[in-house]
This record gives sequence, C-alpha cells and structure tokens, in this order.
Amino acid sequence: MAPLAPYACSDQESRGRHHAEPSPRFRNEFQRDRDRILHSSAFRRLEYKTQVFINHEGDLFRTRLTHTLEVAQIARTIARALGLHEDLTEAICLAHDLGHTPFGHAGQDQLNHCMKPYGGFEHNLQSLRVVDHLEQKYANFDGLNLTFETREGILKHCSRDNAQRLGAVGERFLHAQQPSLEAQLANLADEVAYNNHDVDDGLRSGLITIEQLLEVDYFRERYESVARDHAKLEARRQKYEVVRRMITGHVSDIICTTQEQLDQTKPTTLDEVKNQPKAIVRFSATIAEQNRELKRFLFQHLYRHYKVHRMTTKAKEVIRKQFDAYIDDPRLLPDKYQQRVREAEERDGTNGRARAIADYIAGMTDRYAIAEHRRLFDPLSTA
Ligand code: MG
Repeated sequence: MAPLAPYACSDQESRGRHHAEPSPRFRNEFQRDRDRILHSSAFRRLEYKTQVFINHEGDLFRTRLTHTLEVAQIARTIARALGLHEDLTEAICLAHDLGHTPFGHAGQDQLNHCMKPYGGFEHNLQSLRVVDHLEQKYANFDGLNLTFETREGILKHCSRDNAQRLGAVGERFLHAQQPSLEAQLANLADEVAYNNHDVDDGLRSGLITIEQLLEVDYFRERYESVARDHAKLEARRQKYEVVRRMITGHVSDIICTTQEQLDQTKPTTLDEVKNQPKAIVRFSATIAEQNRELKRFLFQHLYRHYKVHRMTTKAKEVIRKQFDAYIDDPRLLPDKYQQRVREAEERDGTNGRARAIADYIAGMTDRYAIAEHRRLFDPLSTA
C-alpha cells in the first residue's frame, strides 16, 4: 500500500471493535474487515440482486455484485492517488449495498412503505444491521464485529432518531460532521459507478439510444472525442470507448478537485477532516453540474421507462404480498425465521415482529423472492 497521508484513517489508531479481538498477524485491521465482508453470506447474495435490470433479464447487465466490485475498483484507484487508506476504502465499498432488498430501488421503496408503521426501512441502515447483527457465523458474537471506521463509513446517511439510537457511529450526524475521506470517497465512487454503468446497460438494453444521450453534455463531449480519434468504429466498441472515457473523466476530476481541496484546507488530522463544513472529496463544479444533467436524463429515460416500470411494479407486488402475509401470520415463515420473529417480538413487540420480517425479505435474492412468492401463493406449488 502507498504511504498514508496525515488526513487518512489509520488502522493502527482504529477506534476498535465492539467485541475486543487480538490484532490479526498478517493483515491490518481494515484488511480483516474487508475479508469478513467478502466471506459473508450477504455479499454472495449480491450476485442475484437487481441493480436496475431485474436479475433474470440478461446475463450481461450489472447486478449488485458487479456494481459493488466496480465501486470498489474506482474508489481504490482514487484512494491510492490521494494517499487514503485503500483497504478501509475497499471494505466500505464492498459493504455499501449489503442491506439492499431484492429488485433494486423498487424493493427498497416498497419495503419502506410496508415498514412505515414500524419504524421504516432504509437499505443503508440495513447494511449496517447486516454487518452488526444479521450475519451469524462467528463463535463469539453476532455480526462481523467490524471496526468503528468501516461501520461509520457504511452509514452514509441517517435520521436524528436513528443516530441517537446507534451510539458512536451515529454521533457525526448529531454534530453535523463529515465522515472520513475514505467514506466520502466510497459514497462518490458509488455514484460514478452507477451513472456510467447505467448508460452502458441502458444502451445495451435498447431502452435508451445514443441519439437521446447526445443531449447530455458529458456524454456528447466524450462521444465527439471518440469520433475524432476513430472515424470508423463499430457501434459496440464505440459505446465502450465512450463509457470508458466517461469513467476516466470522473475519476480524474475527483482526484484533481479533491487534491486542490486538500491543498487549500490542509487537514492534518482526521478530526480536521470531520469538522469541515462540506465533504472534501468531490467533483469540480463543472463536472458536478454535468453529472446532475446525466442523472436527470437517466431518471427520465431509463429508470422511468415503461418497461422498467412494469418490472418494478410486479416486484413491488411480490414484496408487498409477502410482507402482508407474514405480518398477519408469521407461521408461514420457515422455522428459523419464526424463531427470530418470536424473539424480536418478545423484545420489541409488533415493531420487533415487523423488523424480523423485513430482515428476512431484505435478505432475499430476486430469484428467491420470486420462488418464495410462488410457494406462498400458487396453490399448485409445493411448500
Ligand atoms: Mg451502490
């Protein structure tokens, strides 16, 4: 790993783990976090969870797993260039979507709607819940017992109520502080990854076209530069070349702009990073504006496309019907989850019952959710 800058998080000065453990012999603390995340069941399930396109629509579209790997790869490049802790950055990136429901944002919105009377559902908080409680594979504790720094990085946003309930990782929300630079970076790398791969997937699906995208400045500039460099390029290579330049443009812009911010603010400690009024890791004003235009385009033409909308409407129905069935009669759940619902209900009453059901549904992959739907509601299906 490259030498750490003074404003980076240090694994040796970590605020530690909830359950004390001896330090690993051949890895640093953040490497251990990353490895625990990689070996978790929730991480493997990302392979069968939707990013935008429902998992069974085609083999080439991004899933949450490939999205997550792209986020980590983009962030690691930037972390290394800026002297940030690459292992911590990678750990946060690999964990950032662990709490996502099946069926992408439609699933999250529906589960949140179902959970409204019981405290709501937020995938970002759920990611933390996965690593803190839901993974059950260690002899001495529930969860992965990750370091404070990784956990704080996973918690991108959170309400005041939740911040109070969450203790130390929620504190920065109560004091209007920034997260570490590694966490700021993971957040922005997520955006770089999805904005660009959604252009790629959108074009591949045929739901959006090059002609439409030419109205977006950031795309058009790169499209024209490819056309200048390669007069006769077949369409497929042309698309890859444009998307490649879009990603490189974003990554370079973040590195240069953030370095300028660091030169100006000169933070020498993590506290000085946290007490900045705004995030230090950022796009330049020009690219930020172009990025907003790209996002507006994707929202309007891709995420709201009627074909995507049809799929997400069906997906919401799958989530809603299952949630309603389980909340009315938890005995429909597999034994292991009935047990969890009983325990949660003893602790927290109806809210506990609902939360344990939400944990079960959020943990499902797309295909598991569809199969479970069939088992529950198709009279000819065997349970
Ligand atoms: Mg993401």
